[in-house]
Amino acid sequence: MKNFFIVLAMKLLNIALKICGKHGGNFLGKIAFDWNPEIFKYFKVNCPVIAVTATNGKTMTNNAIGYVFQTAGKKIISNKEGNNMETGILSTLLKSCTLTGKIKADYLVFEVDEGYVPVVFKDFPLDTLVILDFFRDQLDRNGEVESLILKINDFLKKYTGNLVLNNDDPNVARLGMANPDNQNIYYFHVDRYPYATDNMKEAGEGKFCPFCKTRLEYEYYQYSHIGKFTCPNCGYGNNEIYKETKNINLNEMTFEIDDVLYKIKSNSIYIIYNFTAVIACCSLYNIDTKYMQEALSKFELNNGRLEKLVIKDAPTIINLAKNPTGSNVSLRLLNEDSEEKELLFVLNDNKADGFDVSWIWDINFDNLNNVKRIITAGTRGYDIAIRIKTAGFDENKIEAYLDLEQAVKSLYTNSSKKYVIANYTSLQPTRTEILKSKNRS
Ligand SMILES: [Zn+2]
Repeated sequence: MKNFFIVLAMKLLNIALKICGKHGGNFLGKIAFDWNPEIFKYFKVNCPVIAVTATNGKTMTNNAIGYVFQTAGKKIISNKEGNNMETGILSTLLKSCTLTGKIKADYLVFEVDEGYVPVVFKDFPLDTLVILDFFRDQLDRNGEVESLILKINDFLKKYTGNLVLNNDDPNVARLGMANPDNQNIYYFHVDRYPYATDNMKEAGEGKFCPFCKTRLEYEYYQYSHIGKFTCPNCGYGNNEIYKETKNINLNEMTFEIDDVLYKIKSNSIYIIYNFTAVIACCSLYNIDTKYMQEALSKFELNNGRLEKLVIKDAPTIINLAKNPTGSNVSLRLLNEDSEEKELLFVLNDNKADGFDVSWIWDINFDNLNNVKRIITAGTRGYDIAIRIKTAGFDENKIEAYLDLEQAVKSLYTNSSKKYVIANYTSLQPTRTEILKSKNRS
């Protein structure tokens, strides 16, 4: 009875918020969870629940899975806005359930923060968990990567649902061994892409075998510690692959899985990994590949995640980067592009970013390809400028600003190509400022 009143109260509150023109965000979930931490038990779900977790790529993968299902004519409920902690997911459920807690959809698809998987799914059914990658991220909030992985590993010991794992990340593939009785493990793999390297180019985590501590051997690295690895001692890494991406063509922006050709709107290896996970996940539900082809050919996030714009004749690519790997993935794309270009890097150190910005020293700014100027901005705009200078970039070609508007104005004094990297709290202000330049004469 108590839960009935909580749901009723939250629904009324949601209506009140709407009237005031406010978007609830995590708010409803926060109140409900404080009221009863076991409220997840109240919901009655009669469809598969799918969750995506990772350090990087959760929002994109979650939304692309949802989009494939929608393209196939399915009704989904999803936290597309990215509220991915227990309170955010609870808010989504509270808004979509009936007063008796029934949720009607064909699929529930959630992105879940790495640290909250065990919290959300303690009392809530989970049919498929997709895990993409683990990197160092905002250390002062998440703690070390290893403790996060162990938390999820503990949760998985009793889990028997589908587990879709990136077999090219040693931190992820190991989770397939958490419960030896789980028969529903599905590994995905991406074949060597044209810019893969023989040595690790960027900072990464997975240097040693998690089972026998032997140094892992890599056939190649795609980016960071993601690549084809095996343990020479115990054979870890040689898993049976469920979905394998082949024939990646960056110019045509195509790849193949099971001899089906996918044409997408990006040439980033990072997105190809996300989409491989999407295809592996949707294949488990027998979604026809024609819907996957159609959905992925159109899919774009348009919220500053590898978003492409043209501002005053200058092609512009904006990407969120809240950790070294996110930044390195953006710089990789920049370096794979031989055209002359300029870079804007915006770095804030607000609470949601983490106050510790020492991670910028793990970004690989060496040998930038045909970059004629770098502009920096944000509350730590000077720190990132010093980092870039230390990497050997000509300091006469670096401009540092505290004021974002000035930085963006300077960026668009010519029409050469722009790459923009912004961290968490700086992303939307940067994007807004860039869109403003569109109308500025
Ligand atoms: Zn080993």
